[in-house]
Parts: sequence; structure tokens; C-alpha cells
Amino acid sequence: MRLIDGRAIAAAIAEEVTAAVTALRGAGTVPSLAVVVPTRDEAAAWYVRSLARAAAEVGVACRIDELDEPDAAQLAKRLDALSGDPGVHGIVCQTPLPNRLRLEEVAEAIDPAKDVDGANPHSLGRLAAGLPCFAPATAAAVLEILHREQVGLVGARAMVVGRSTVVGKPAALLLLAEHATVTWCHSRTRDLARVCAQADVLVAAAGRARLVTSAHVKPGAVVVDVGINPTADGRVEGDVDAEAVAGRAGALTPVPGGVGPVTTMVLMRQVTSAAAARA
Ligand code: NDP
Repeated sequence: MRLIDGRAIAAAIAEEVTAAVTALRGAGTVPSLAVVVPTRDEAAAWYVRSLARAAAEVGVACRIDELDEPDAAQLAKRLDALSGDPGVHGIVCQTPLPNRLRLEEVAEAIDPAKDVDGANPHSLGRLAAGLPCFAPATAAAVLEILHREQVGLVGARAMVVGRSTVVGKPAALLLLAEHATVTWCHSRTRDLARVCAQADVLVAAAGRARLVTSAHVKPGAVVVDVGINPTADGRVEGDVDAEAVAGRAGALTPVPGGVGPVTTMVLMRQVTSAAAARA
């Protein structure tokens, strides 16, 4: 089994994005990302720091906008203000949200032209309709990896485990747009292993450590592990039992070092595109 090097893919994207940012800066536009952080969650704080580092690496300006446990109206007001701010090109609203808010509800306040993480339901609708939009960065990162690894998608059987608005749904829509034959699996799917074992491309995005074992993997399949599950000893592991599938899968993205770093750089590329569209 081949381990797919997400960090190397992220470095290749970073090089392309840095060139685009340099050109934009030369023409007087500094691509700028605003990250709204409405929560004190530790994992979220870690992700926000990694966004800030990635932004600095490619020359994107990044401002962190912290809010203290806002309600829906307060959060929407902030997103609306950033949408109207000409100095901001991309907006990310970090999850989890407080007060039982759903991202889908408040993200309507993000201008679709600045919705670089595809959180506004209008963006998902446009994705489903095959219209230009920003896809959620994680879903776009899954496709980026498959493209860069030259995985044939036309007519391939693709299974996506997970149907969240941020990962599973958009990842499946992007695979469908590439002419894969797509199946969505979720917590109510009967006999998950049997269904997944038909996949040429298996995307695991359930948030359940070691859910995917060798029984779920067709020999030679390409497996993309989106899951990030904290372990008791402070590490993270994916949704795929990497040791168990090693003898069956053709290729696997590791956790860490797979989808995560590619997601961050795809997001920077989307901020840069949003800035270029307004320059
Ligand atoms: P959600 O909890 O929103 O969605 C999980 C999905 O998995 C649901 O659709 C759920 O089904 C399904 N599911 C849960 N348990 C099972 C099971 N036992 N069998 C089959 N399906 C199951 O999570 P997210 O989509 O937000 O994230 C998924 C994972 O990806 C998480 O580990 C998250 O940390 C990670 N992630 C990684 C990112 C990256 O950049 N690498 C970015 C974003 C997320 P149902 O709908 O029926 O409940």
C-alpha cells in the first residue's frame, strides 16, 4: 500500500498560491482572510493557529475575530459586517458554534463571494447545481488529492462515509461532478463493510476512530481518510485502521499528514481566488 503524502501535496499548492499572492500584491491587492472564532474549543484553537501559519506562509493576511459565546443574531451581525468590509476577501466561521447554533443557519450571512469555506447553504446549492462556487475546503481537498494522485474517477465507484454539510455531502457532489458513481453511507447504512468493499475510491468522513477495517476495503482501492479523532494520549487518529487495511488498500492518506494540510492550503487558494475576482 502506498501512503499518500498530504504534506508534499500541500507544499506544491503553497508554491502555486504564493506565486498568485505575489502577483496580486504587486498589483496592490493583499488577499485577506477573516476567521471568526465564536468558541473556546481547544481543537478549534489548534486549527485556527494552523490557518494563521498557512496564511503567513503564502502571504495571505489573516485576522482572527474572537467572539465570546455569541447568540445567532450577534454572530450573523459580525459575519454580515465582514461581508461588507472591502478589506476582507474571505471569511471562515470556525466551528463548533456555541448555544446549539448550526453553522448552516448563521452562514447565510456570509457573502457567497467571500464564502471561501463553502459554509453558506447557497454555496452548497450552487455546487449541487454545477454552478461556480467555493466548495468546503475539506471536500475540495479530497478531490485535490485524488487529482494530484491521478486517480481515475470517471465511472469509478466512490463511497463516501458521512453526510455532513461540510464534508460528506460536498465531497460526494464533487465526486459526482467528476463522473464517479457515488454512494453516500451514514450511521443508518446497513452492512457498511459490504457496501464500502465495492468502492474503487473510499472516503471516510465519519469521525469514528478505526471504523474502516480491511473488511471495508476492496483490494487496490484508494482510501482517503478525512477523520480526525483525538486519542487519550494526545495524538490524533483517522477513521481508518491503517494497519488493518495496509495489506488490501492500494493507497491511503495518513492521519496526521493527509487531508489536513491539503485542506488548509486549498483554503488559502480559495481566499486568493476570491481576492483575484475583486482585484
Ligand atoms: P459530523 O459528525 O458532522 O458527521 C459525521 C457523519 O458520519 C454523519 O453523517 C454520520 O451519519 C456519519 N457516521 C457517524 N458514525 C458512523 C458510523 N458508525 N457508520 C457510518 N457513518 C457514520 O462530522 P464532520 O463531517 O464534520 O467530520 C467528519 C470527520 O472529519 C471528523 O473526524 C472531523 O474531525 C473530520 N474533519 C477533518 C477535516 C480535515 O481537514 N481533515 C475538516 C473537517 C472535519 P448520520 O448523518 O447518520 O449521523
